[in-house]
Amino acid sequence: MITEVAVALTAFNNLRQLTTALVSAKSEIDRQEAAISFQNALLDLQGRIFESQTAQATLQERIAALESELARHKNWSKERDRYSLQEVETGAFVYRLKPEAANGEAVHNLCPQCFEDEVKSILQFLGKHGMRNKHGCNRCNTVVMG
Ligand SMILES: [Zn+2]
Repeated sequence: MITEVAVALTAFNNLRQLTTALVSAKSEIDRQEAAISFQNALLDLQGRIFESQTAQATLQERIAALESELARHKNWSKERDRYSLQEVETGAFVYRLKPEAANGEAVHNLCPQCFEDEVKSILQFLGKHGMRNKHGCNRCNTVVMG
């Protein structure tokens, strides 16, 4: 952005010098040459202003995307702190809602795979498998026994 401003100021100074040359031209030929140079410099300045506006719009879009990403991470960080990793059976892990952070929600378990992707996906009871309970994730199809 600073570079674009410096380039625009240089182009503007060039226009000012060409204006002086145009006004002080002694002959019609000198005046026409100065007018053509002035028009070319004006077109160049317009192009640089357009480039600068495009660059600014791109930066504004990037800032908005980064702000959105930052807000999402902050929200996830708060949400993540409401859960703790629990081993429900040897080698079978889930993220369980901490009772002290439930805020009226039923205590539930989240899929550990989806949790790592910063997505909350509640494990659903799929039925019994012998004496063990079988739970699954509807998002990624992870199955947790226990
Ligand atoms: Zn999942």
